[in-house]
Amino acid sequence: MTTPSAAPDARPDVLAVATPMALIAPRLAEHFNLHANDAATLAAVAPRIRGIWASGESKVSAELIAQLPALQVIAVMGVGYDGVDVAAAKARGVVVTHTPDVLNDDVADLAIGLMLSAARQLPAADRLVRAGDWPKGPMPLARKLSGARLGLVGMGRIGQAIAQRALGFGMSIAYTARSAKPALPFAYQPSAEALAAVSDFLVVITPGGAGTRRLIDAKVLAALGSGSPQKGILVNVARGSVVDEAALIDALEQGVIAGAGLDVFENEPHVPERLRALPQVVLSPHIGSATRQTRQAMADLAFDNLQRLLHGQAARTPVPECR
Ligand code: NAP
Repeated sequence: MTTPSAAPDARPDVLAVATPMALIAPRLAEHFNLHANDAATLAAVAPRIRGIWASGESKVSAELIAQLPALQVIAVMGVGYDGVDVAAAKARGVVVTHTPDVLNDDVADLAIGLMLSAARQLPAADRLVRAGDWPKGPMPLARKLSGARLGLVGMGRIGQAIAQRALGFGMSIAYTARSAKPALPFAYQPSAEALAAVSDFLVVITPGGAGTRRLIDAKVLAALGSGSPQKGILVNVARGSVVDEAALIDALEQGVIAGAGLDVFENEPHVPERLRALPQVVLSPHIGSATRQTRQAMADLAFDNLQRLLHGQAARTPVPECR
């Protein structure tokens, strides 16, 4: 990352609203004049900024876009781009890009991992052995994942990758989405609530943003709890905003649902103490795509998008609104 300099530099100026990971930082610095997103730097370089480097959690507001008259591209290293004001970007002719598909496997793997962890109580089992408590007696019996009913809220790229894996566990699969997918061999339910009522495990894998805000509310959780005598388990690998976190905590504390596996939260990286206190909940710190292999693939794709658009070529993966 460089500070503003008087010397001419042929490299396009790019604002890093997310700190580039070490696995891409040298390559970015070689090809772009990268600037940190602080007020002093911005005041000096804003007119020259042609690109933004962002992560899936970054906020790129209409106000920031308005400050950058030469902006051409916002390259998000992530598939979700709910923090970017795409309408404001589009209105200015700025192309937003993201990194779909390359992370499907990892996020789907984690969703299965959270389901298994919550069902088989793996963190509690690990804690029991570490604490030397095994000689005191066995763990309470857990519940079976194989053969159970999986409901997927979202049946896009990652939802379908989760479904493929769940078939290997002999799960029966149903889903809800904005529209039914007749080509897929899975049962469609018209709403999250209807789906929850026929699911043992409800996995949330929609985009975040206004269209899905608190889609999983107290009613959906009540339906998940009443659909089977064992009560359902919620897994969220989408965005924290999709689940009403206060309603979820109430549902867990009151035993309305049996448990949860959560990779995403409303106010990351802060997780409410009441949620952290619940033993039937498995928590991970937004690591859906966090393997070296996948982060490298995401970084390379985001880099290509930035490079191509700043050199007059079409982006490889613009977001749907910018196609
Ligand atoms: P995608 O292919 O666009 O699929 C999104 C799915 O959500 C589609 O099936 C869509 O329905 C459905 N959907 C959208 N709005 C909905 C609504 N209001 N109600 C019900 N369903 C709705 O996206 P993807 O590549 O699978 O990624 C999904 C999301 O996963 C990302 O946007 C991101 O937020 C999250 N993610 C999280 C992590 C992590 O680290 N935990 C990593 C990567 C991605 P239609 O098919 O009918 O359009």
